[in-house]
Order: sequence, then C-alpha cells, then structure tokens
Amino acid sequence: MKKTLSVLLAVLILCAGLVPCVSAKDTKVYDNVILMIGDGMGQNHLALAKQERGITLFMEEECDLRGYSETRSFSSAVTDSAAGGTALSSGVRTTNRYVASYWYDPLDWFSVPRTLAEAAKRSGRRSGVITTDTTDGATPASFTAHTSDRGNSTDISTQQAKSDFDLLWGGAVKTFDPALAAENGFTVLTTKREMDALQTGSKSFGQFDYDTMWHVDAPEGSTSPTLSEMTEKAISLLDNENGFFLMVEGAHIDKFSHNNKAAEAAEALEEFDHSIETAVNFARKDGNTLVVITADHETGGITLIDGKYTYTKTGHTGADVPLIVFGSNDLIENGKPIQNREVARRIGQKMGLDKFPVSDPGKIPTFYQNILHIVSESNWGGRSIPKAIWDLTADLFANLIPKK
Ligand SMILES: [Zn+2]
Repeated sequence: MKKTLSVLLAVLILCAGLVPCVSAKDTKVYDNVILMIGDGMGQNHLALAKQERGITLFMEEECDLRGYSETRSFSSAVTDSAAGGTALSSGVRTTNRYVASYWYDPLDWFSVPRTLAEAAKRSGRRSGVITTDTTDGATPASFTAHTSDRGNSTDISTQQAKSDFDLLWGGAVKTFDPALAAENGFTVLTTKREMDALQTGSKSFGQFDYDTMWHVDAPEGSTSPTLSEMTEKAISLLDNENGFFLMVEGAHIDKFSHNNKAAEAAEALEEFDHSIETAVNFARKDGNTLVVITADHETGGITLIDGKYTYTKTGHTGADVPLIVFGSNDLIENGKPIQNREVARRIGQKMGLDKFPVSDPGKIPTFYQNILHIVSESNWGGRSIPKAIWDLTADLFANLIPKK
C-alpha cells in the first residue's frame, strides 16, 4: 500500500512537472499594447509597395508571427472601416457604418461595447489614438466614440473632446470644438513644434494637416508631423509605470487605393512601415510591449497581372488581410487566419482584462444613473441603496440581449 502510494506520488510529481512543458502557453500580461491599423492594407498592398518603392518592409522582414485576419462585418461579407474598426476595437461585429455600437441597438439606448482604448483607461493605463485620417474618421472613432453612423461627425468630435483619453491626434476637422476640448483639459495642437514641446502626463488633441502626415518626409514648408514622428512622440508621452494602449492608423493606404493611385498608396504604406519600426524599436527596448499590425479590410482588389501588382476595383473587398505580431510567440499561429473580432479579444487577454468583450451602459441606463445620483445626493444621504438599484439595472440592460 505504502509502495503504491509512493509510486502514485512520483507519477503525480512527474505529471506536474511535465504538463506545463507540454502545453506551455505564454500567459504574460503586457503593460503596453500598440495596435497599428493600415486602413485598406491587403496582402498585395505590401507587394505593391515593394514594387513601387523598391524597398523591403520592416513588418515582413522582422516580425515574430504572421497570420491573417478574416474581415467581414455583421451585415456584409465586405466590411467598411466603421464596422471593421469596431471589430478591432471592441471584439464585436456590427453593421457597416456603425461606430462601436451594437447592431441591435443603433441608438445606443441600452448598452455600447467597450473599446480597447476605453478598457485601457479603466485598467489605469494611459490611452491614445493617432491617425493620418481626420480625427472623426471611422477608424479613430471606433476606438474613442459610440454612434450609429460614421458620418455623425459632430457627435464623434463632441464625444472625443469630452473624453479622458490622453492623446487623440490626426487631421483637422471642422466639427472639432477647441474650446470644449480645452475645457476638458486637452492642449490643442496644430503644429509639429507644439507636439514636440508636450511634456509627459499632458492631455492633448492634435489637429494637423491632413495632406502631410502620410508622407515619408513632410513636404517642404509643412508645419505638421509625419505618422512616424507622431508615433515616436506619442509613445514617449504615454510610456509610464502603469502601461499604455496606443492605436496608430495609416489611413491613406485606403484613401489612395479608392482612387487606384498606386504611387501615393505605396508611399503611405512605406511611412506606415516606418511607424511600425519606430514602435517596435521602443517595444524591444521596453521588453513588455506587444505590437500588433493589421488592417480593417482590403481596398482596390490588387492582383498580380502580367508581372505587375494592379488595382482591379475602386471599392473594398472581403479578402483576408495581414496580421503581424511583434513581441509575442503565441498571440496567433503562423500562417493561420483568425476572425477580425478575435484580434481585439486576444489583445484584451494580453492586457489582462478579465472581461472582454464587455458592455458599458447606453443612454437609458446612463440617464437613469444620473437621476439616481441626484436622488442619492439630495435626499438619501448615503448612496448604498440607489447604487445597488443602479448596478442591478445596468447589469440587466447590458446582458438583456446576447452579444453578436
Ligand atoms: Zn475605404
């Protein structure tokens, strides 16, 4: 009996030692995540850029993992940047044109999906978004606002100006209200010089020249930064002991591909690649930063025809897009595709978010919360009972309808 026990014990100890080796998974939680989105950047855009510019690409040559993201939206096999951005920001698929809103709740009455940028703030990290698009563009908006139509520019700009993000930089937009942003603690920037002068811990809203940021070198006379200059400065401002989340968008790959402008799209992609190198240089020094590069969809249906990468259409396609990883050996499997919404879910895990995707209260619960707050402040003295009612209601609304 004693012998049987000791054999059993030995086997158990052996198993305990072996099992972790067999299924060794990198359960590391990263302080910092940099998610880089080449808008419209399909697999063949990389080939086109190399052909047009006579270059190699850092993201291809040096990456740790390379797979694919399957792009579609809830409503269509071909996604736009709003639903594509929502999948990448929130881990949920929604209807085209919806910006971080559920397909079944377009008016955001009941609940909204929490974005990675918002979740980062809640986790105590700093959080920012930079883009070569205007700041109200569908991709940056998908991380920083909630609305049922990407064209609701005033709604998006207002939500952003009232937000607690640490930085939000991109092309200038008419609906942006500098006074409102300043009221909410943002320093408003319009030049590279102002950007360079920022100190760590500051909160800033960039309104730069839309035609400058995508270039490999800023055109002569320009006072605005390029995407890689923004990337470098943003990282230095966000870096802190509690970690950060940064989304970087190279928007012009899509813009030029809609017009089949190969030379311009290739330059925009090269500048995006420079930004990736900037981010990865930081990540390698830091040792606790995950860098993920992907696209929301492919634009232009680029195909190899007679030895030349050529556009075959002016719209988006449903093609899989590159999914490239620096700083992890298990976020994805080399050569394998995952769904676009899965990208955000896996990043959420790597940030140590215990629940993601997750909902936040929509307009009705928020309205209800405000009423309860007033009641609790004015009549009830203590807040415990209204707080309990509120928590129950918010939970009810958030879980009422199954998530797509
Ligand atoms: Zn597009």
